[in-house]
This record gives sequence, C-alpha cells and structure tokens, in this order.
Amino acid sequence: DFAKSKSLSQQRQYLPIYTVRDDLLGVVRENQVVVVIGETGSGKTTQPTQYLHEDGYTRTGLVGCTQPRRVAAMSVAQRVSEEMETVLGDEVGYAIRFEDVTCPNTKIKYMTDGVLLRETLKDSDLDKYRVIIMDEAHERSLNTDVLFGILKKVAARRRDFKLIVTSATLNADKFSKFFGGAPVFHIPGRTFPVNILFNKMPCEDYVEAAVKQAIAIHITSGPGDILIFMTGQEEIESACHALAERMEQLISSSTKAVPKLSILPIYSQLPADLQAKIFQKAGEGTRKCIVATNIAETSLTVDGIFYVIDTGYGKMKVYNPRMGMDALQVFPCSQAAADQRAGRAGRTGPGTCYRLFTESAYQNEMLPNPVPEIQRTNLSNVVLLLKSLKVENLLNFDFMDPPPQENILNSMYQLWLLGALNNVGGLTNLGWKMVEFPLDPTLAKMLLMGNELGCIDEVLTIVSMLSVPSAFFRPKDREEESDAAREKFFVPESDHLTLLNVYLQWELNQYRGDWCNDHFLHVKGLQKAREVRSQLLDILKTLKIPLTSCHMEWDVVRKAICSAYFQNSARLKGVGEYINCRNGVPCHLHPSSALYGLGYTPDYIVYHELVLTTKDYMQCVSAVEPQWLAELGPMFFSVKDSDTSLLDRGRWHNEEKTAMEEEME
Ligand code: ADP
Ligand code: MG
Repeated sequence: DFAKSKSLSQQRQYLPIYTVRDDLLGVVRENQVVVVIGETGSGKTTQPTQYLHEDGYTRTGLVGCTQPRRVAAMSVAQRVSEEMETVLGDEVGYAIRFEDVTCPNTKIKYMTDGVLLRETLKDSDLDKYRVIIMDEAHERSLNTDVLFGILKKVAARRRDFKLIVTSATLNADKFSKFFGGAPVFHIPGRTFPVNILFNKMPCEDYVEAAVKQAIAIHITSGPGDILIFMTGQEEIESACHALAERMEQLISSSTKAVPKLSILPIYSQLPADLQAKIFQKAGEGTRKCIVATNIAETSLTVDGIFYVIDTGYGKMKVYNPRMGMDALQVFPCSQAAADQRAGRAGRTGPGTCYRLFTESAYQNEMLPNPVPEIQRTNLSNVVLLLKSLKVENLLNFDFMDPPPQENILNSMYQLWLLGALNNVGGLTNLGWKMVEFPLDPTLAKMLLMGNELGCIDEVLTIVSMLSVPSAFFRPKDREEESDAAREKFFVPESDHLTLLNVYLQWELNQYRGDWCNDHFLHVKGLQKAREVRSQLLDILKTLKIPLTSCHMEWDVVRKAICSAYFQNSARLKGVGEYINCRNGVPCHLHPSSALYGLGYTPDYIVYHELVLTTKDYMQCVSAVEPQWLAELGPMFFSVKDSDTSLLDRGRWHNEEKTAMEEEME
C-alpha cells in the first residue's frame, strides 16, 4: 500500500540509505574507493547513482553502475528514470549485450559487468566515467571479479576516478583489503524478524512440495505476498502451472469463496513486460505469489513479501571437465544464499520462511558461501579479453581469488585449438579479430570462418539466432500442433540450417508478427535476432569484412559450422546415441532435433552445446562430413613447432589423441 499512497520522492526518503545520504557523500568525497554494505532493499542500487548526480559528479563524466544480471540492469534503470521523472534512455539509461539504451545526454548508466568489461577494450582508462559503482559485488560473478583487477589499475592511474563497491553481505573485509584498506560504509538496516521453519524430512519433489506449501499459506495464513525460490525456467513454469491448476480445483470444489492468487513467474529469459509485473500491486483482496530464480535473492527487491518458500537449490554455471565445457547444473545453494532468501520475508513486517530442506542439510551439506564463478567456469572469454588488454602473464593478474591454474591453462588450450592463440600464448590475427565480437569464442570463430569460406551472410544469421533464446514456441496444450509447425522448417541433417531457414522465411514474409504466431515462433525472439544481426553487421563493417554469400549452398555453410565446433564433434554409436570424438563422452540427440526423425542417423555430427536433463542432450546439431573433420584435424592435432610453448602441448596432445584421431588414422 505504501507504494500506492506515497509519491516516488516520499518513497525515496523512506529508504534506510536516505538517513545516511550526506555521510555517504562525505566518505566518497574523501576517498577514492569506498565499500558500501547494506541489506537488500536498503536502496544501494537505486539511490547512490542519484545522490552522486545531485552532488555534481555527472558534470564531469558518467556515473556508471554495473550489475551481474541483465534483468536487474534493465529494471533498475527503469525505476531510477521514473524516480528522476525522465524517459528511460535519456538522463538515465542502460546497456546490456546487444542493447544500448543510452544517449549523449545520459548521466547515469546501468549496465551489465560484461558491458563495462568490453568497454575497457576500447578505452582502458574508462575516461568517460567519473564514478563506477560495482553493485552486487557479493555475487562474485566472473566479469565482476575481472573488473576488480582492472578497475584497481584505473584508480591508480586516474586520480579523478571514484570507485564504489557495494555488497549485500557482511564479508566486506575482503573487498576492503583488495583495495588497500578502503573504508567500509554501513547502511543501517531496517528489517523484521523472520521465523525460519525447516523440513523435518528431506523432500523428494521440491516443486510439488513448494506448490503445496504455497496453497496452504494462501488458504490458512494472514495477508502478505509469497515468494518461492526455484532453480530455473522449466521448474518455474511447471510450478506456476500446478499452482493455477490447484487454485482452479479449490475454487470449483469449495463452498466458501476462495481469495484470489496472482501467480507471477520471474526468470532472466522472461520478456521484460512480464518481468515488470512482479512489481505491480495485486488487485484488492488478491495475494501475489512470485515464483523466481535466485534473481530475487538480492538483485531485485519486491516489497510486501511476508512468506518465503525456499527449495534450497539454485542453478550454477560450472565447468565440467568430463565434457570440457560449462554446464548449468543444479546445486544446493550456500548458507549465505539461504539466509538472503529468508531475509526477503522480513522487509515489510515480521515474516516466515519455509525451508524445504532439513536443518541438518543446512548445517552439513551447504557451503557457508558460494564459490566465486571465476573458480568454477570456463575462462576462454576472459583469457581472450585479458590477452587483448596486453596482460601477458595471466597467472600474475591481480585476481581477488585467483582461478585454479588448471582452468587458465585449459581455457588457453581451447583458444589455441580455435586458432586464437599462437604457440607462445599470444593472440593470433584471428584471435585479435575474435575479440571484436561480443560473442563466445566458438561463435566468433564460426563467423570468421564464414568469411574465409565465402558464406558470412548465412553464418551471421545462424550466429544471431544462436545468441537469442529459442525461437520455437511450444505451448503446453498445443504440443503436437507446434511440433508439426517446427518440422516444416527442418533442413535435413542440420538444426543450424533450420534456424537459418526460419529466419529467411520470416524475412520473405516481411518480418511479420502474425506470420510468427501462425508458425509457432516467438516474434520477440526473432526481432531480437534481427537486432543482434544488425549489430554484428556493424562490427563486420568496421573490420572491413565484406558480406559474402554462398547463395545457400548448404555444404559450404555446414563446413563453416563444423570448423568452430571441432570440440563438440561426435560420432554415431547407437540409435540416437553419439560419443564425443575428443573424450568419448556419450551424448544424445534431442527429440526436437531435425536429425531425430530422419529415418537414419549421420555418422558424424557437431553440436552447439550439451544440456543436462535426464540425459546429456545435444542442443542444435548438424551432420558433418568426416573428411571435414580430418581436413581441420591436422591444424589442431599436429602443430609442428619447436617454439618453447606456454602450452604444455605434449601432455595435451596425449589427452587429445582420442577416438577421432584413431578413427582418422
Ligand atoms: P538494494 O539495492 O539495497 O537491494 P534497491 O535500491 O534495489 O535496494 O531498492 C530500493 C527500493 O526501491 C525497493 O525496496 C523497492 O521498493 C524499490 N524498487 C527498486 N526497484 C524497483 C522496481 N523495478 N520497481 C518498483 N520498485 C522498485
Ligand atoms: Mg541492489
């Protein structure tokens, strides 16, 4: 009700950070680097940017604020533009990969940490920024961790530059120490007690358990909204579906009136207009039930939550050495994360947190703090970036928590295989070009191979389609119909070419939205792909790479695809079953693949990525000719060179001498 009855400026003055506004500005004035600690919801993300603006900092440069998550960058910028009574994209803007909503008049810029990291490539001193706020530092995202090292140097070089590091948790000492004993500024908290209830027994199906708990709260407990933590989109959708079903049953079987429940999902791939719904007040007599990923842990603050249901799990990107790549996997969350989640129930009044795990699991199975991303993921992107910033020896880079040496070497090896690094670990011509694209090294390589093979026009479209969420729409109650619609686009033996075909057909139909709806395609996804395509095209232009086309000679395109994915090449083992050529790991065709219903299965394929569900499924597959792999093989497997190499090629070579080589010999 508060949000409804009070003006935005009154709401701003009610935030805990407002009471210490002048002290904070004082500390910032006196120090170059300041660490700011405050509870979630205290105003750390939305207020300091405005205070700095009000204090005159934006007269001489931008105030930038980084976010580990795209959704947070967009939604917070929206909020701040409303508080400042301007249009989003004018004085207050945001930038995320492939989307820049700022203008020359912009004073406050929210952006993902990845965007700022890429900006350091063009301007290593970040001269246009007067202040950078690194928000959500406790999340320790990969890009934030790299930025720590880079911004520390910027601060040393530029006396006029200010850096503020904000965190929602108390282990601020580490940040302070890293920046040479920077002062730690505490925002006083305003929280209410949260009653924490553990499960007595471990639960088997936490989606089902969460749904039951939410319905029980709704029927028996007093007013207040509910927030459920799940791991990802699929689970969230099935929980929302189950909740809606349960409510329908209740309403039809009950003689008394059942109060309304507004069920609201939130996850990163949800379209922005649906995301915004979680902040809107529900109608009179309606309770909100938000079903979220860990995005609602600290990045987004929703007021009015009195009940939290915590499954105790979250998805994390983890490098899987067996597969040689990152995979999103479900893990128990950390104790710190569970405590943050519980805290969401005590923002507006005393609340309750239902933990769907046991107290002993909390004590014995959960880590006190999450493992920083830099210590658990593939570093290829980071290595490429740091190399181009002329960081010669990555093992000496100023990391707050250095990644395991093994990870760095492994990522360097992958880049070497892609042809981005030479034998002494320096960037090759190809590597320098790859850095220009805000893409994973694999996709950047595919694009540049498209150039070499004269089919960059086609590859550009494929890369753009792979950079956005799946274009295919498969509503729950119309699965058969939508599958049939998808099959019409199939190009035999290739999901990549199927994506290209979808895009070309859409183009032929004047990019029409109704055409998308008729063919079970996400309009927004395709529009996004079109935007991505035009931005990549701009980069190609600046690199003076002409747009060549092979006029849909599918084999040429498939060869370019093949060249990027040699790490993800697999050969047939059984029906729908393949094994990775490099490491022998089994992987399966997904039923949605164009290769699935062919009636035969190609001997060799490459895939975009593996998704772990019930099996290791390959996502986006194309058949390739074994001689292509062999052609590309020598380049990757027998570099004859007597240079002393940073890369311990002997050892790698042995590991590499695998199924494919044997097959080729
Ligand atoms: P912190 O970063 O300390 O967690 P924020 O600055 O994000 O806090 O949020 C402060 C308050 O601003 C929240 O409690 C909420 O009331 C409001 N708020 C923030 N983002 C939004 C939004 N997108 N829509 C509506 N209100 C918001
Ligand atoms: Mg915040």
